[in-house]
Amino acid sequence: MIGVSPSPLKKCPYCAEMILAEAKGCRYCHEVVDPSWREPHASAEATTRTRRHRGIAAILSLVIPGAGQMYRGKIGWGLVWLVFTVVAYTVFGGRW
Ligand SMILES: [Zn+2]
Repeated sequence: MIGVSPSPLKKCPYCAEMILAEAKGCRYCHEVVDPSWREPHASAEATTRTRRHRGIAAILSLVIPGAGQMYRGKIGWGLVWLVFTVVAYTVFGGRW
């Protein structure tokens, strides 16, 4: 038998059109069908999330001295900074 190949088509999960089984994207709705093409986006999201956490820590340490360290899990060091700042404010009376 000539011309018989093992089912080279698959159903698009987005628009239900029949597309090539090896297709990375759907030619009807232009959605990315191959899951390996979606993974880089997911890891990029995770990187952004980590960066955002670092940003929150930086902002916290600006508003409340030591809070950034506490946010990152170094509670002891954060408390030392907090006490130091309170003592400094008390000693210098907010003149600086
Ligand atoms: Zn589609």
